[in-house]
Amino acid sequence: TVARLRPFGETIFAEMSALATRHNAINLGQGFPDADGPASMLAAARQAIADGRNQYPPGMGVPALRHAVAEHQAHRYGLRYDPDTEVLVTVGATEAIAGAVVGLVEPGEQVVLIEPYYDSYAATVAMAGATRRTVPMVPDGDGFRLDRPRLAEAIGPMTAAIIVNSPHNPTGTVLPDDDLAAIAELCVAHDVIAISDEVYEHLLFDGRENRSIATLPGMRERTLRISSAAKTFNCTGWKVGWVSGPKSLVDGVRAAKQFMSYVGSGPLQPAVALALAEELDWVDESAAALQRKRDLLSSALAGAGFGVHRSEATYFVCADPRPLGFDDAARFCREMPARIGVAAIPVSAFADDAAPWRHLVRFAFAKHDDTLAQAADRLAALR
Ligand code: PMP
Ligand code: GLN
Repeated sequence: TVARLRPFGETIFAEMSALATRHNAINLGQGFPDADGPASMLAAARQAIADGRNQYPPGMGVPALRHAVAEHQAHRYGLRYDPDTEVLVTVGATEAIAGAVVGLVEPGEQVVLIEPYYDSYAATVAMAGATRRTVPMVPDGDGFRLDRPRLAEAIGPMTAAIIVNSPHNPTGTVLPDDDLAAIAELCVAHDVIAISDEVYEHLLFDGRENRSIATLPGMRERTLRISSAAKTFNCTGWKVGWVSGPKSLVDGVRAAKQFMSYVGSGPLQPAVALALAEELDWVDESAAALQRKRDLLSSALAGAGFGVHRSEATYFVCADPRPLGFDDAARFCREMPARIGVAAIPVSAFADDAAPWRHLVRFAFAKHDDTLAQAADRLAALR
């Protein structure tokens, strides 16, 4: 392994899922749902295979999906993108992020990450030969917000891009409008690209709505908006994602993507196109069900003695095991599968400066209610 990738080792998700399997633990670590997406989408994928749509799709992605993505964003956010030049289908959001960084950031330039950050961001910045600057989130009541003075310090002449992730993994925070506005103003002032990872755009709770940074003044022309079918339609294994933005930026992503994967998943793209066009009611029901699951797991954690943070969106809730006598979440997560049969992820795995996050554990609640109930019983045994 080359030196620039050596520090990243194995992903925390692989490590904790392996531990869960070894101990037959309930896996509330890696974020994936245990139920399938809409039946019409699954049928459309089978049909596409039966119809012989099994060869390379076009480089930008199957037209039906590019059109569905453009229509969805026009309808939902008032963002207008040309489906032929401003929407690119990728191998999940992961490839969209990697393509954006590798295709648009020069070696030696800086990319700003908001900490805690999704693990692929830092590795991708390293692959591009760029450097990362991190800006922490800070506690705000039982939730989190951006440390804005630190953000203003971090953005400067060497900054090429900032990766924004709202709704946020791992904290489940929906960045407040004033934080998004502060990021946007700095991007405009310093001519910085925003790479906006919105994979949880539909999974918000308590009536909250996703606001894309691309809609803020001066931002459409400098934002790459990234999403994925994975979380919206419960198909994390399909790896169908997309990026939209001005042609000049999408061209950069495409320049990289064509030599990373060339194209991806031909027969799955028309199925996702159908789901985006016809199954958003299914998604609303799925988000409502997730909100109940968040409540189930949050109460179970509180009942077991954890300090529980507010989860506003995503699959995740963060909890503090210090009241139970554990002050190192990483150690706690390594011990729990064997000890009580539950796996989770330490938030410190998403941070360069682990200290502020040392005591936090991320639990995924996108699981059947009886699985959550069983996990609740096991967690109660920690008392
Ligand atoms: N970004 C975030 C914030 C994520 O949580 C994930 C995991 N779903 C991804 C990107 C990767 O998405 P995909 O599986 O579509 O590559
Ligand atoms: N996005 C998922 C999570 O945060 C996991 C994806 C992965 O395993 N790379 O848990």
